[in-house]
Amino acid sequence: MPRKILVSNALPYANGDIHLGHLVGYIQADIWVRFQRMQGHDVHYVCADDTHGTPVMLRAEKEGITPEALIARVHGEHLRDFTGFGVAFDNYHSTHSPENRAYAEDIYGKLSAAGLIDTRSIEQYYDPVKQMFLPDRFIKGECPKCGAADQYGDNCEVCGAAYAPTELKNPYSAVSGAKPELRSSEHFFFRLSDARAVAFLREWTRGTNAAGERRLQPEAANKMREWLGDEGENKLSDWDISRDAPYFGFEIPGAPGKYFYVWLDAPIGYLASFRNLADKRGDIAVEDYTDAQRAQVSGTEMVHFIGKDILYFHALFWPAMLQFAGYRPPSALCVNGFLTVDGAKMSKSRGTFITAASYIDQGLNPEWLRYYFATKSNGTMEDVDLNLDDMIARVNSDLVGKFVNIASRCAGFIGKRFDGRLGATDPEPSRAFRAALESGSIAQAFEARDYGRALREIMQLADHANQYVNDHKPWELAKQEGAEERLHVVCSTALTMFRDLTLYLKPVLPALADKVEAFLGLPALAWPATWQPLPAGHVIQPYQHLMTRIERKAIDALIEANRETLTPAAPAPAAVPAVATSPQRHAEKQQHQAQAGETVAPHLTIEEFVKVELRIAKIVHAEHVEGADKLVRLQLDIGEAQPRQVFAGIKSAYDPASLIGRLTVMVANLAPRKMKFGLSEGMVLAASDDRGETPGIFLLSPDAGAAPGMRVK
Ligand SMILES: [Zn+2]
Repeated sequence: MPRKILVSNALPYANGDIHLGHLVGYIQADIWVRFQRMQGHDVHYVCADDTHGTPVMLRAEKEGITPEALIARVHGEHLRDFTGFGVAFDNYHSTHSPENRAYAEDIYGKLSAAGLIDTRSIEQYYDPVKQMFLPDRFIKGECPKCGAADQYGDNCEVCGAAYAPTELKNPYSAVSGAKPELRSSEHFFFRLSDARAVAFLREWTRGTNAAGERRLQPEAANKMREWLGDEGENKLSDWDISRDAPYFGFEIPGAPGKYFYVWLDAPIGYLASFRNLADKRGDIAVEDYTDAQRAQVSGTEMVHFIGKDILYFHALFWPAMLQFAGYRPPSALCVNGFLTVDGAKMSKSRGTFITAASYIDQGLNPEWLRYYFATKSNGTMEDVDLNLDDMIARVNSDLVGKFVNIASRCAGFIGKRFDGRLGATDPEPSRAFRAALESGSIAQAFEARDYGRALREIMQLADHANQYVNDHKPWELAKQEGAEERLHVVCSTALTMFRDLTLYLKPVLPALADKVEAFLGLPALAWPATWQPLPAGHVIQPYQHLMTRIERKAIDALIEANRETLTPAAPAPAAVPAVATSPQRHAEKQQHQAQAGETVAPHLTIEEFVKVELRIAKIVHAEHVEGADKLVRLQLDIGEAQPRQVFAGIKSAYDPASLIGRLTVMVANLAPRKMKFGLSEGMVLAASDDRGETPGIFLLSPDAGAAPGMRVK
């Protein structure tokens, strides 16, 4: 019986670009969906933009457009990026939609009827100028613990302390700069601490789904045990699900001026996107997937792919909301880790905060990244490292060197010598392929989202196929008298093995598989029940180039295109250290961070400042630049293998010879700049009087004892 599965990806927030960190989870889900379909299962794959909340409202205001216009534009950008990477949703909807409003109101109404909604008055900071309550990330002030200036309302990025926004000293609104006032307001709460919710979540965490699998990965289940506490304990707190006007979202029925908090209606967006798809298609029984009773009878599954930063929302609030509103809770959560690039957090100054659009614009093949992410996916919540040199090596060696190479060495002979018709095949070399299919181990690895294991097995088979080609050397058979038939068999056998490899790689490399299907003259490859060689007499098309190698310079250009020079931008969402705090506050804080990407920053934060890498530099050489009025060419030693070349506009104040040997301070991570006279790889720091009262330029020097390469902070 085919499985019926509703699969979703976490909804990206409508206030920022899709970057490679997002793509980890989307590519993992897309591979799984494609694999399930090749197995003959019935899958609906949906996603949407998460559109509500204060950050979208303020961003639209800043751009001078309506929130609706903003989210429409971002929706188009996000869908373009996903499509570019072969992430093929059946529907990409929006949480700002009538379907989502209907589901949100229905779920809220049922939770209310079940006695699980409370109202409580809470005190919060209010911006009297902007006339709005301020989310934690929009309040700044001095840290109550260490006194650091310009810290957010939830935790200090200097000392790591976590606190309530009301504890900040000298708070101010990051929106208007005004001093906020404490005001009280009525809020709605979902009673997660209710004994029924706690008991349900304990059971749900431990249980298995209809397919007999665990609903949560072991690490996620451990997290849940930590959050839920021991039997008899209740560590859960109620969840604040309302926000006051002005807010971009859905007004709560019967509560004028109160809106559903963005996190209430975000996961509901999965259902809304699915409903919207069903309305367009007309042949999907939505309630078989969404209604608790009917889902049980019909045996459908609902699987969510999410990042580990939003586990709390999806493992606690979401299943409990569904359960007590008569909806079906999720069958499984597939949680992925964060992305690092070359072992470090993605960084705008290093150019490793890479957007999906820039990758496509630079002309890189999206399937290189799909393949590399797949080799690094093992079905756990571990972080994934994009090691750029390793990616180049893996793609070039596995896909070009092993996979494509089989077809490129054999297909031409079939075309030239046998009129495009395949001949008989050798049974022996295919035995490993037959055994692999019959053992089901590659399919099991795909099912468990252990794509790394699947690809290792697939590449072993590719080695086996290459060994066969190397042993029989069709290029030599082609020159031998009377070896015509042997040549035909060898090439036909190799192409049968190539067909099998394509089948296995297809969930990961759908565009490449499309090309191979056309070249081999085959219908869309699906997982076969039994193994068969390509039949004698089958006609193939002329071989065309399938995939090029990755060149290091293409990756370098990508990094360069993403490198941001110093601009007083808001901190990158992923760049804030986790602090010890309650899981709910922690989860909400991460969400706020994810949404705070575009806040107005009247001051530079410490975090922004430390992005500037200042180092002590020794001037090892200095000279005039032919044809330049102001510049001196410096060679600076900052403890690296080679000195850096920097052009400094200090000719009017310094004789180059007098500079050699002295120490100064250099900005070491400034993007290199091509100048008329050569590449400038940084900047030296000098003082000058903007008002012109004291003419001159004064190069900075450290106190005695400082050495080249020391960091200046
Ligand atoms: Zn502090």
